[in-house]
Amino acid sequence: MLTTGPRGTKDILPDTVGQWLYIEKVVRDICALYGYKEIRTPVFEHTELFLRGIGETTDVVEKEMYTFTDRGERSLTLRPENTAATVRAYLEHKLYAESSLNKLFYIGSMFRYDRPQAGRYREFHQFGIEALGGDNPAVDAEIIMLATQFLKTLGLAELELSLNSVGCPKCRPVYREKLQDFFRDKLDELCPDCRSRYDRNPMRILDCKNDKCKELSVGAPNITDCLCDECQDHFTKVQSLLTVAGIKFNLDPRLVRGLDYYTKTAFEVKYAPLGAQSAVAGGGRYDGLIEECGGNATPAVGFAVGLERVLLALEKQGLLPENELTSDAFVIALGDGAQAEAFKLLCNLRAKGLKANMDFAGRSMKAQMKQANKAAAQFAVIVGEDEIKDACAVLKNMQTGEQEKVLLEELVNKLYAEVKD
Ligand code: AMP
Repeated sequence: MLTTGPRGTKDILPDTVGQWLYIEKVVRDICALYGYKEIRTPVFEHTELFLRGIGETTDVVEKEMYTFTDRGERSLTLRPENTAATVRAYLEHKLYAESSLNKLFYIGSMFRYDRPQAGRYREFHQFGIEALGGDNPAVDAEIIMLATQFLKTLGLAELELSLNSVGCPKCRPVYREKLQDFFRDKLDELCPDCRSRYDRNPMRILDCKNDKCKELSVGAPNITDCLCDECQDHFTKVQSLLTVAGIKFNLDPRLVRGLDYYTKTAFEVKYAPLGAQSAVAGGGRYDGLIEECGGNATPAVGFAVGLERVLLALEKQGLLPENELTSDAFVIALGDGAQAEAFKLLCNLRAKGLKANMDFAGRSMKAQMKQANKAAAQFAVIVGEDEIKDACAVLKNMQTGEQEKVLLEELVNKLYAEVKD
């Protein structure tokens, strides 16, 4: 128990941290390119925020939240996603006063009590975008472009982008009724979850994973046949902007989000080679959420990408960068008398900004050389008692094997010149 982490969590060990740093750098570069600024919100929030911000009828809220009472009797929840918290921070800090369109991004871990399997964890990481304040279809198109460019920059081809519109509180009630009419005489055959969705959230029946429910949904009416003029116009514009940007998409009338504050655009990016957990990114417009959270009615659109799934996809395609753990120098001390001088040299190398390390266990020359190799050091600096008598050290190029005796007082500058040239 004490030597195993909680189910559904993963340690990111030193040899894979480089992969995360790489992905995060691509995120930050692309967000800078598109003018999105980073926001970092707490890992836990008041439970109420998620009840309102995600919706009490969703699976996430009903079954997946990590909720606890703290010592002050407050109900808190580890964030299962980051949109609600971003909206909370936007309202709390009145970011709307600074600009009519706030373009934000985040990277962080999310927590859901999900059934762990490949690509599905209880702690996982998302990169997400929230564009708060924009109602123009160009903002929808921009964030979809950003999501696809992110994945393409990493080298992922074979991406499938699905697009839909889920209407708005004006046109959706008509559709809900049509959907309820369609499922009315099939109600007994639906799974228990869908039976309860029928009244509360009938659109969610369309994305149920149960085979029987899928079969029963064949022939169900499409939301896109019920859109009001405004939603239809918005949908058409998003599509034509994506076409202008050269982004391919499939229209998928089954792509739904059942809650009232989700409006208009819904999209998902899949990477088929991942199999069962192939959804790498999902997002859409949520024009009603900011008002739901206590702000003025403000349009907004966003998405989240699952970073573990992106890593799995990159691994499958052999696209992960090599672990670039290199260093400039490894200082090797031979004999007790050389320890202090070697340590001083180590400090001087670091003070000069060179990545340097040494062994503190007084091991043999051979063992220390092995460590220098392991540290991928470009140079070994060997300090023995004899060398110290001559105020020298041996500088060995680990790649070519060449070595020379260098005066201690010149060593740091010489090594710096070799490494930085
Ligand atoms: P969602 O916030 O549910 O719209 O999910 C957005 C993205 O996060 C999905 O497309 C997945 O890539 C990822 N994701 C969601 N849940 C999990 C999970 N339990 N484990 C790993 N990734 C997840």
